[in-house]
This record gives sequence, C-alpha cells and structure tokens, in this order.
Amino acid sequence: MDAFEREIAARTGVAHAVALSSGTAALHLALRILGVRDGDDVLTATLTFVATAAAATYVGAAPVFVDCDEATWNLDPDLLAGELASRARAGRLPKAVVAVDLYGQCADYERINAACEPYGVPVVEDAAESLGASYRDRPAGSLAAMGVLSFNGNKVITTSGGGMLLSDDPDHAARARFLATQARDPAPHYQHSELGYNYRMSNLLAAVGRGQLADLDERVERRRATNASYRRALGELPGVSFMPEAPYGRSNRWLTCVTIDPRGFGASRDDVRVHLESADIEARPLWKPLHLQPAFSGCPVVGGAVAEELFRHGLCLPSGSGLTDADLERIVDAFRSTPRRTGPGR
Ligand SMILES: *Cc1c(COP(=O)(O)O)cnc(C)c1O
Repeated sequence: MDAFEREIAARTGVAHAVALSSGTAALHLALRILGVRDGDDVLTATLTFVATAAAATYVGAAPVFVDCDEATWNLDPDLLAGELASRARAGRLPKAVVAVDLYGQCADYERINAACEPYGVPVVEDAAESLGASYRDRPAGSLAAMGVLSFNGNKVITTSGGGMLLSDDPDHAARARFLATQARDPAPHYQHSELGYNYRMSNLLAAVGRGQLADLDERVERRRATNASYRRALGELPGVSFMPEAPYGRSNRWLTCVTIDPRGFGASRDDVRVHLESADIEARPLWKPLHLQPAFSGCPVVGGAVAEELFRHGLCLPSGSGLTDADLERIVDAFRSTPRRTGPGR
C-alpha cells in the first residue's frame, strides 16, 4: 500500500496520497478534515454522480447545487463566483466547494480557485473519473486543496473497489490515515478520543492497483482513440454533438458522451438508446442532475437549465478500455441505423 501511495503521489504530483476503500470514503474524509459539519453548506456541481454530493450529507451539511458550463459540462465558474459573492454579503459562505472532473475532463480550476480564494473557501477536486487527465500541464487530482480518486470497477484503472485522498498538506494526510483506521490514539491499549471509520484500502488491492497503474497511459490512449473513432463515425450526423474538449487541458476520455438533438437527428436520445439496447449494446443517459434527484429534493440549486438540457439529450456510449475495432463498428452501425421519426436525418 505504501508503494501504491507513493506511485500515485508521484503520478499526480501531490506530496501525499492516502489509500482508502473507495472514492466515496475519500470524499467523506475530505469534508470531515476540512471541518465541514452540521448546518454548513457545501457548493457542488449538479451534473455528477451522487457520491460527489452525498459526502456533504454524511457530515450533516447541506449540498447546494451549481449548474455546469455548456463549454465544458463542468461546474460553471461564473455562477460559482456570483453565488459566493451573494453568500458573502448575506454572511452565509459555504464551508467547502466540491468540483468534479466530469467524464474525465478537468473543471476550470484556475477560475474556480480564484473565485473561492478571496473568501478562504477550500476546494475539493473529485477526480474519480479523471485520473490521467491534465489541466494546463498539471495532473488531475492535484488541482485543489484536496483531490479524490476512485479505483472502482468502472474507472480508468481499478482495484475492484478503492479510492485515494490526495493533498500537499501533511496534516491532511495524517488526519486521513488516523480517521480511516478507527481514530486510534497513540497508546498501548485501544484508546479512542473520537470516532473514525474502517476506510483503509487492503494491501492485496493495493498490489492490484500497482499493476493497473503501470497501464494507465496505455488505457488513456485507448479511451482517447475510442473517442476519436466515434467522432469520425458519428460526428457528421446532423443533430449529434460530442462533449467538447476544453482548450485548457487534456481529457482522459473516461466515457465518450454525445448529445442528440431530435430535430436534427430525426430520433431522440431514448430512441437511440433503446435501438442500441435491442442490439444488446448498453448505453446510458448522462448523470441525472442531482437537483432533480428525489434524495436531494429541497436542496437549493443555482441555475440548472444547462444540466437539465444535457440530461434530456445526452448519452454515454460504450467506452471501456477493452473495446475492439469490431465492437466499435457494431456500435456505430447500430447507432446510425436508429429508425428516424422525422427530419433531415431520414
Ligand atoms: C465513481 C465516482 C465516485 C465514487 O467513487 P467510488 O470509488 O465508487 O466510491 C465519486 N465521484 C464520481 C464523479 C465518480 O464517478
């Protein structure tokens, strides 16, 4: 486990990495270490996986959702800055901001950090999907006060289940190790002044992770090549648009995502999804915005229309590192042969 931590720290350019049982555990510890608690607010992206925001509720805080930017599909830095300014005036600053690197593309951390710095609000980078990506030549995971990785089965590299908390601050790392191993005080007997968790990764899975990490570059190149193939095969179809790649960085293309405008394509996102399913090809809608999730009903949202529109029309295509050329051809053929209801795509 020590070796896996050192290798991930070197790879992501952070001083300290703490191996944990999941990315969700890493998000939970990050907020606890930042002192987020009962009654606090945490600003976070609405277009993301549930775990990004669930951590806030684990520590008794309330998530406040912020819409994404059309150009990157990530947390909109202007909306964030506006919300922080109005909260500063009202004396209701959030205790932390959790930004996410959606589908392997880094959020715009220069602008996000610049928006938060004047108020001293720390930023957590949920890099669960973006290991191997970069932002202005800096690695994903190293772009905020703390970074979170996941090695869940569906991520770019996996330990079947696992995660890591990344930070340059030695106190954060020491505190994460302490809390992840049941908060045991230094004493010959079992002594506990506060309560922690059983969140440490096992050595066995760390060994798997080291093997996987050696293949990271190759896997990222494969995912990027898959994305390029989809673009060549589907990019010219009317109504079909790909997730934009922001000019400030390089995505790992964890998933290739498209939006399908039914007026241009002649069939809806669900028409395509169901048609693919009939050919035994699994494709899923984008993350459902968290402000629309029943579990978060009543949580405030800043904007939301961009995420809702992306959810309405967005589809994640099969993107695993093991896809063959034959698989891709079959998927692309099935996509293209979706029966059209109307329009120029016919
Ligand atoms: C996968 C994922 C997580 C959670 O990671 P686990 O290791 O599955 O707990 C958190 N955030 C995002 C954005 C994810 O995609």
